[in-house]
Amino acid sequence: MKAYFTRAYTLSASHRLHTEALSAEDNRTTFGKCNNPHGHGHNYRIEVTVGGPVDPATGMVINMATLDQVVNDVVIRRFDHMNLNLDPLFTHRVSTTENLSITVFDLLASALAPAILEKIRIEETENNFFEYSGSH
Ligand SMILES: [Zn+2]
Repeated sequence: MKAYFTRAYTLSASHRLHTEALSAEDNRTTFGKCNNPHGHGHNYRIEVTVGGPVDPATGMVINMATLDQVVNDVVIRRFDHMNLNLDPLFTHRVSTTENLSITVFDLLASALAPAILEKIRIEETENNFFEYSGSH
């Protein structure tokens, strides 16, 4: 028996899409205006989905206060109102929202154990959504 709980968080951060693996011209071609040297910002909406059995004593998959505390400690405090490109996790990783999804998933998966992190879904803009469910 398995149930799922999803909770949404807001994260405001700036970034610049750029990789040392490409020339300056190829960076501009690949990333367009997102390669602007001055960067730009997003108000990301991050949805965290946790799955597992419903605890018969509490009736919950995970205590919401526990989830809030872990997400705040591990993700929000680290990235909110920061430049993602300056975080060591993005030194060798382009700060796309695909990679942000993977990064958030990896940071949270171990921190939430024994609860099971099922999925991270991030809305970057009203038209762009990204999901990552781990490497399994
Ligand atoms: Zn962007």
